[in-house]
Amino acid sequence: MKHFSYERVSSPSEAAQAFERNPGARYLAGGTNLIDLMKLDIEAPEHLIDVNCIGLDGIEQTLDGGLRIGALARNSDVATDERVRRDYPVLARALVSGASGQLRNRATVGGNLLQRTRCVYFYSGDLPCNKRHPGSGCAAIEGMSRALAVIGGSESCIATHPSDMAIALRALDAVVETILPDGSKRVLPIADMHVLPGQTPHIETVLVPGELITSVVLPRPIGGAHRYLKLRDRASYAFANVSIALVAHFDGPKLGAVRVAFGGLAPKPWRVEEAESGISSASDAASQIADVALSGAVPTKQNAFKLSLARRALSVLLMEERQRNDRKSQ
Ligand code: SF4
Repeated sequence: MKHFSYERVSSPSEAAQAFERNPGARYLAGGTNLIDLMKLDIEAPEHLIDVNCIGLDGIEQTLDGGLRIGALARNSDVATDERVRRDYPVLARALVSGASGQLRNRATVGGNLLQRTRCVYFYSGDLPCNKRHPGSGCAAIEGMSRALAVIGGSESCIATHPSDMAIALRALDAVVETILPDGSKRVLPIADMHVLPGQTPHIETVLVPGELITSVVLPRPIGGAHRYLKLRDRASYAFANVSIALVAHFDGPKLGAVRVAFGGLAPKPWRVEEAESGISSASDAASQIADVALSGAVPTKQNAFKLSLARRALSVLLMEERQRNDRKSQ
């Protein structure tokens, strides 16, 4: 690990000013990903700005009945918040399916959104990786690609986004609030925050250098049945092969509005809103949604299983919710 300097700031504007003075700095929150990356020399900031004490760890109601979750709120605190569990259970379930209890106690909401891919080649210093060294190539495409993206990737990178929380936030249409190094603020729909790799896989979000996430805002509760299903190679402490955040509304026996976001399939939380409209029959909903949401997929031999797994998982979730709805209406 290279030498670096360290400072602790006490407000978001102090953090922004500290970045202005140290343009190569990184913000340090929970550190559950950044410190690992520094140990491996994948990240080598000259300066760390510790933002843990800037007063952004609360969860408060917004004026329109939503929730504002501070970027420094720990994943475990969000998952156990009574309002999150009651009104946004898909988010609570996604959070508890991520990482381990220890990590969730430390990891923050802002850091969770910005965590880097777990592609093994990204963490292995002696093999080509366009994300780590732009222009060096991608060892994964002809290599071990089982865990990697089947859709949204490019010839430069097929890494997946590792977050569970972000998949649920995408289904909920959350909004991200930030402060920029010049002190100005902006608001971004989560749908617009992560970008696909294209020819520049080292660029993962639209955030500019030094832009700090200050909070994530959930809209007013949307009701419906909330599910988060994560399919992985072992029962805990593993990243998703496929995950699905589902919010489904029923109109009597009929499936009404539905939202589906996929994890483990793409370089960003994968939701295609057009796939959710025009569903003609509840029993065919899963295949209708998957046909549109997963069209254009380019799997490798090793990860093609993810496409059928995603279809079957969505089918099971919707069937279970349909049966639950039927029982309620009897
Ligand atoms: Fe690097 Fe992306 Fe290729 Fe993995 S898939 S080796 S992160 S360029």
